[in-house]
Parts: sequence; structure tokens; C-alpha cells
Amino acid sequence: MDKIKMQTPLVEMDGDEMTRILWQKIKEELLFPFVELNTEYYDLGLKKRDETDDQITVQAAEATKKYGVAVKCATITPNHARMDEYQLKKMWKSPNGTIRAILDGTVFRTPIVVKGIEPCVKNWEKPITIARHAYGDIYKNTELSIEKPGKAELVFTGEDGSEKRMLIQEFKNSGVLMGMHNLDASVESFARSCFSYALDTKQDLWFGCKDTISKTYDARFKNIFEEIYEKEFKEKFRAQGLTYFYSLIDDIVARVMKAKGGFIWACKNYDGDVMSDMVSSAFGSLAMMTSVLVSPHGYYEYEAAHGTVQRHYYRHLKGEETSTNSVATIFAWTGALRKRGELDGNHVLSDFAGKLEQATIATIESGRMTKDLALITTLENPVVLNSEAFIQAVRGELEKLLAE
Ligand code: NAD
Repeated sequence: MDKIKMQTPLVEMDGDEMTRILWQKIKEELLFPFVELNTEYYDLGLKKRDETDDQITVQAAEATKKYGVAVKCATITPNHARMDEYQLKKMWKSPNGTIRAILDGTVFRTPIVVKGIEPCVKNWEKPITIARHAYGDIYKNTELSIEKPGKAELVFTGEDGSEKRMLIQEFKNSGVLMGMHNLDASVESFARSCFSYALDTKQDLWFGCKDTISKTYDARFKNIFEEIYEKEFKEKFRAQGLTYFYSLIDDIVARVMKAKGGFIWACKNYDGDVMSDMVSSAFGSLAMMTSVLVSPHGYYEYEAAHGTVQRHYYRHLKGEETSTNSVATIFAWTGALRKRGELDGNHVLSDFAGKLEQATIATIESGRMTKDLALITTLENPVVLNSEAFIQAVRGELEKLLAE
């Protein structure tokens, strides 16, 4: 069989620890034999980031603007322990933060649903994708502890010298106080990413906030979503038979619990933080969660939602066997390859991505899986495979599918 050709390169961002090991294995076993892999390679491993004063991360993000699609391996975000471990020049920022700041955009997290790993919520038949607004609110807040009686006010001083002032609370005693903000531009870009991704993946979009209580702050979110929908997306949604659904956040949560899934749930920053962990744990495992950064300018960056699986890496370094789940990393590749295929009109490439996903799912559904899944599966007598053997089993299934 001829290898599949790629007209345009994918931006490939390599990473750290156990996921870096899996990255190489996935390429060797599941990609190189079938695809003439055309990537522009950026090593975002911590050593290289340190050597380049983190310029490699900036270059990778800029390349994503040039080519439109990137695939990223999990990377270490340095803390004090990592400073010592890697003898770093500086505590470099989170690569994901740097990339997001350059590309702008929203992160969509979707669980990979397979038979045998059943969601705790029985009626969830299809994945629920969480879109989290990753700017502002309590993540950029200012807090005060109040120790004595006094008056708290909200004051805005315009550059023109004008002033807006409102009473927050007359404190009779001790308490706490918080100020927070958001920006129209950020909410608009969030809304556009959500509507575009809904069209792209042919799913309904749900959004909830608390505009009955927060008549200015949350109402601004609701209104921005509504305006952008009416002006830019309503016709396109109609044409595809899709719905945009707004309700109060409490109502949305209640409906999510009763729903079948198969939609995108846009969340404000804090709601997204809380709900994405609930959804991922209820669907089974962090190792089965994919993540894609969608920029409102049309750039896509695919990755696994989990980290570098540090504990397994240390075991691997000692020569011990590991059983690390590579599913979300495989799906990061398939997501990126499918999107590359769509943008280039390369159907063979997109089909290959679909078959690789099918092969991965078929492997698990046949009872062969890594240890993390074997611990939670409803399938009887699962076969626990090590990291390499799982990827090889997927290759076996893929070869069968490609031969059909
Ligand atoms: P982690 O996701 O690597 O691990 C969290 C827990 O989930 C661990 O118990 C781990 O064993 C389990 N787990 C996660 N993925 C698994 C997989 N594929 N197979 C089997 N088990 C899996 O997160 P962590 O331990 O908090 O962080 C480790 C490193 O990863 C840190 O340096 C952190 O900065 C980095 N990190 C990177 C990203 C990213 O690049 N997107 C995200 C999160 C954490």
C-alpha cells in the first residue's frame, strides 16, 4: 500500500516524560508505516525550552498561525521541584498558557466514549464537550479581608476623569470582599470559538450563566452570545439543523444530568473549571479526554487533556514496565490529521484518522487495555497490556481496517 501523502505540514510539538515516550511509539507504530508524515517539528521538551529561553514555544505557536493545525504532546509546567530537577535558568511559564496567549481561543475537552468504560451517568450515550472561557472572573480577581466596620465601594475612574461609584456593603463587622472583571473582546472571541466549533463538529451549543442574579455582569455574557449568534451564526446553524440553547446555569446543570450527550457546553471560567472535572471523571478517566484549542481566527491545536504521567516515567527510567494509556495522545494526532485533511481536501488523510480512532476503540472494546482502564471497565476478564503492547494491539486492528 502506498503511504498517504500530506500537502501541508502539521506543526508537531513534542513534550516531556512518559508522554514523550508514547509520542515516539505512536509515530513509529501507528503513523510512519502508513503516512508520509509531513510535520514541522518543535521540541517543547523542558530541556529545549530552557536552552532557547522558551523561544521554541513562541516559534511553535507562530508556526501554528502559519499552517493552521498543530498537535502537542503534554509538557511539564515548571515549579520549584522542576527547577532543581532540570537545573533551569528560569521558572518558564506554562507552554499551554504561552500558546493560548498567542493564538487566543477556547479549549474544548471531549471524552472518548467506548463500550466497557461506562459513564457514571447512565443516560450519557454520547460525549459532552466542555468549552471553558479561560479569561478573567475570579481567576484575575482582587480580594480584601475586612477586619473592622466600614464602607466598601466599587469605583471606576475613567481616563477622562469621570467616576462611577457604587456601594457594595456597609460592613458592621469583619468579612471579605472581592473585585473581578471581564472584557467584551474576550467574551466575544469565546462566543465565536464556541459557535464555530459547534458548526465544525455538527453539535448543538448550550450556554448557561446567572443573568437573573447578575443583571449586568452575567447578562453581558448572555447578550454577547445572543448578538453574535443572531448576526453571524443563526443561518448557518439553521442550515445544519443545529440549535443554540441558553438557560440559567442551574437549569443547564439539571438538564445535562438528564441529557443523552452529544453537544457542546460553553461554560464561564469557574463553571468550566468545576464542570470539566466532573464531566471527565463521570465519563471514566482523565486518560480518555482529548483537548483542542480553537482560535477565533481558525487555528487548531490538538492535545491530550492529561499531563506527562510523571510517576510512570520514573518507573520507565528504572527499567520497570509501564502500562500508560496512550488513547488521548493517539486522538490528539487523529484530530490534527483529520483537520489537516479537511483543510487540504485530503480525504484519504481524514479517512485514515477515522480508521485509527476506530482501531483504538476496537482494541479496548475487545478487552485489551491499559491498567488504568482495566481497573474501571465493566468488561469481564480484561487483558492488561503494557504501554508498547497496547499501541501494537492498536496497530493490529488498524492493519485489519486498512486491508478491508
Ligand atoms: P497527569 O495528568 O500527568 O497525572 C494525573 C494522574 O492521572 C496521575 O495519577 C496519573 O497516573 C494519571 N494519568 C494521567 N494520564 C494518564 C495516562 N495517560 N495513563 C495512565 N494514567 C494517567 O498530571 P500531574 O501528575 O498533575 O502532572 C504531571 C506533569 O504534567 C506536571 O509537570 C504538569 O505540569 C504536567 N501537565 C501538563 C499538561 C499539559 O501539557 N497539557 C496538563 C497537566 C499537567
